[in-house]
Amino acid sequence: MAIIIDGNELSRRQREITAKEALEFTEKAGRPPGLAVVLVGEDPASAIYVKNKKKACETAGIRSFEYRLDSGTSREELLGLVHRLNADDLVDGILVKLPLPAHLDSQEVLLAIDPGKDVDGFHPYNMGRLLTGEPTLVPCTPAGIMCMLREHGVSLRGKDAVVVGRSNIVGKPMAILLMMEHATVTICHSRTVGLEAKVAAADVVVAAIGRAEMIRGDWIKPGAVVIDVGMNRTASGLKGDVQFEEAARRASLITPVPGGVGPMTITMLLDNTLRAARIHAG
Ligand code: NDP
Repeated sequence: MAIIIDGNELSRRQREITAKEALEFTEKAGRPPGLAVVLVGEDPASAIYVKNKKKACETAGIRSFEYRLDSGTSREELLGLVHRLNADDLVDGILVKLPLPAHLDSQEVLLAIDPGKDVDGFHPYNMGRLLTGEPTLVPCTPAGIMCMLREHGVSLRGKDAVVVGRSNIVGKPMAILLMMEHATVTICHSRTVGLEAKVAAADVVVAAIGRAEMIRGDWIKPGAVVIDVGMNRTASGLKGDVQFEEAARRASLITPVPGGVGPMTITMLLDNTLRAARIHAG
């Protein structure tokens, strides 16, 4: 039976470290690290997410600035706000909650964020730094997963890792981070042929698909490490991309959903904000 990685507990410990370091920063810089969160529209899930972020910031000693704009906000208004935040010395991190309403171009907004304040790590500058082996601000979900693997003493050197999903926010940066730790990485996606066999050969499986329990438990190689990023709302509650019970019988380590990868994502956002603040303060 696998050891279950407790993302809540790891997050709690990690946030304590961040809070201590944020306090040290505040004493030195004369101001706390600051995170601006921009929410356009009324999406209830996004609103909950923003509320949780605010609470997490307060606990970690990070000042949070919240901007709630109505769904009719124009391109010019939103870009104007991003430019003002770029120039604001109290703001170290800027997060524009995606998805944006359809009339706004999220790529354009993303490009407008100062890469030094791009705490989501989605700006092409930060993606490029990651790809060239000099990461600065790394996307939070894959960064959180690497933290989990480190904390559990997982050695990736020479291991076969399979990442299912190739999104810019999870799959691609995840694959690069695993490769940087010397894993041999296969990236799978919706056109992959023979997914089951690829997963079955993997020492480490990261599932970031968005399809409830698509990775069957009996595909997992005995002793493998299984990281489930998926968050799928189903009639029987929140489910991951991995069929948990059977996978847990075969894996050596596994993340649950909920309580696995999710909490670590916000934790890494706080960490990135502190990192950005330190860079700004020189
Ligand atoms: P995307 O929809 O952007 O990407 C999904 C990926 O899965 C795509 O690359 C897609 O392939 C691939 N895929 C879809 N169907 C299949 C299939 N049948 N076989 C193999 N691959 C397939 O999703 P995200 O990366 O943004 O998120 C993935 C999941 O993780 C979601 O459930 C999301 O809610 C969750 N998530 C959780 C976070 C957390 O903090 N816990 C943070 C971010 C996301 P293709 O490219 O070919 O379309």
